[in-house]
Amino acid sequence: MKIYFLGTGTSQGIPVIGSHHSVCLSSDKKDNRLRVSVWIETEDASIVIDCGPDFRQQMLNSKCPKIDGLLFTHEHADHTAGLDDIRPFFFKQGAIAIYAHERVLKNLERRFDYIFQTENKYPGAPSVSENEVINDQPFTVNNEVVIPVNAYHGSLQVFGYRIQDFVYLTDIKTMEASEIKKIKGCEVLVVNCLREEPHNTHFNLEEVLHFISLVRPKTTYLTHISHLFGFHEEIQKKLPENVFVAYDNLEINI
Ligand SMILES: [Zn+2]
Repeated sequence: MKIYFLGTGTSQGIPVIGSHHSVCLSSDKKDNRLRVSVWIETEDASIVIDCGPDFRQQMLNSKCPKIDGLLFTHEHADHTAGLDDIRPFFFKQGAIAIYAHERVLKNLERRFDYIFQTENKYPGAPSVSENEVINDQPFTVNNEVVIPVNAYHGSLQVFGYRIQDFVYLTDIKTMEASEIKKIKGCEVLVVNCLREEPHNTHFNLEEVLHFISLVRPKTTYLTHISHLFGFHEEIQKKLPENVFVAYDNLEINI
């Protein structure tokens, strides 16, 4: 399977609009981060996780040809605001299958009512087919099995996903031991790490390193990075062996 990092930045992206922070002014391309998202291509399916405001640019950058399943972690705007831009996929493929917690589906129905509308629909509007994700109930996208992994973003429930030996978790702060069991010893773990300073709803560096010591993946990539974490190259120097900072347009194969 191929993993393509579509975006690795926190909610405002890097550079932040109008910021004069040195990381926002960096000439290193790895310090430019679109909002967090990933594309997974397996033999059976092309899966995108989250659809933030940079979705259009990300689809152009990655040349993603089709979407068999669009999975959501949670409803925050940096993970959902690009939904309208599934239009070119809808025109080619028909209704796009979306997968999310019931609460997130309800949230999207409200915010993107014209996409979910069935009567008097504007001809150019895209359509989706809704699939509710329930914890402990693996589902398939084409024939690819996806295992939901439950976690918390402060007090907000979020889903991570395991596909074969790949695990994607973002916007998590806590996870119960029973959920950690589902991902133990995976080959590649992608997990959020905002910065070194603590944050109410995101792992900081110390917390993520502890989490990694519990999960014990072969390789870990950090994502959802804030400009306050520092330059890509400097962060990498602080990390133990087999832990890497992800960057936009990084492609890995498992
Ligand atoms: Zn986020």
